[in-house]
Amino acid sequence: MTKKLKTGTVIKSTGSWYKVLTADLQEWQCRIRGKLRIVGIKSTNPIAVGDNVEFEIEDEDIFEGVIKHILPRKNYIIRKSINLSKRSHILAANIDHVYLLVTLVVPETSTGFIDRFLITAAAYHIPVTMLFNKVDLFNAHELTLLDEFKSVYEKIGYRCLNISATNPATAEFLKAEIKDKKVMFGGHSGVGKSTLVNALAPELDIRTTEISASNMAGQHTTTFAEMHPLEGGGFIIDTPGIKAFGLIDFNKADLSHYFPEMKAIMSECKFSNCMHINEPKCAVKAAVENGEIAESRYQNYKNMFEDDESENYRQNIYK
Ligand code: GDP
Ligand code: ZN
Repeated sequence: MTKKLKTGTVIKSTGSWYKVLTADLQEWQCRIRGKLRIVGIKSTNPIAVGDNVEFEIEDEDIFEGVIKHILPRKNYIIRKSINLSKRSHILAANIDHVYLLVTLVVPETSTGFIDRFLITAAAYHIPVTMLFNKVDLFNAHELTLLDEFKSVYEKIGYRCLNISATNPATAEFLKAEIKDKKVMFGGHSGVGKSTLVNALAPELDIRTTEISASNMAGQHTTTFAEMHPLEGGGFIIDTPGIKAFGLIDFNKADLSHYFPEMKAIMSECKFSNCMHINEPKCAVKAAVENGEIAESRYQNYKNMFEDDESENYRQNIYK
């Protein structure tokens, strides 16, 4: 006799047990028995927070179940494992939105950090909003400078908001946005992530402490993300120790596709497989020269391009 399956979302994982929340807000403790058929990447963990799963009821009285299927993921973020197994660790799946906190002072977020973050989010297919925090510290002149900085990102389609995490109105506004979503917050340490998350969910007492390099080593220290349900609806995905998602492996030739302003004009480059580095008649380089593409964005593109040595990109550049 086949048992009836229930559907829910994984909100916590310890590696062998999964906390699954059903639509009626019941939490189930679920396990996997035997092998699950996983489509897609090879990972050290078959299931991550945010995964929608189907499970069989094992014991209705104590809300225990056995996961039978993972429903298709719309996206997922990974961390490369530290050991050499070449397997990735899936941190979270089905992320609706990511908020990148940025501060221009105390501390200053570099454009390198910002662009890497945005490009990775694009590669993961996760929409981003940039939250410029601590605007309460700015005078009129500094606010003008902030507007100039933001215009680089607004012009290429990123949504930018000024916020102050210490102002309760910020949390009220964001709560309404997050209501039906699974969201993440990223940003350098010191930008105000903990302040903001605590304002959004004071009842959770989320500690966004950082993981030091020493306890990152060793394979038993895998970070397990957790998804915190907010009282008013929606979830905050907390990935301890993760300030930004690592740059995922994508083909070097694809990097410029994740820079919207480059993607928009690269069909005008002379070579259809132009990497926009040394090629003649490159529309991207021309746009940098005439100021249509921000110098910092192009510089960060080149840095990312050169950083990644996994590909043999220098061959086949001119075709
Ligand atoms: P995290 O490292 O990103 O979690 O940053 P924290 O939340 O710990 O914030 C770092 C410091 O910035 C703390 O001293 C906060 O009180 C302060 N801070 C955070 N948000 C704001 C803000 O909107 N305005 C001001 N003035 N200070 C803030
Ligand atoms: Zn080009």
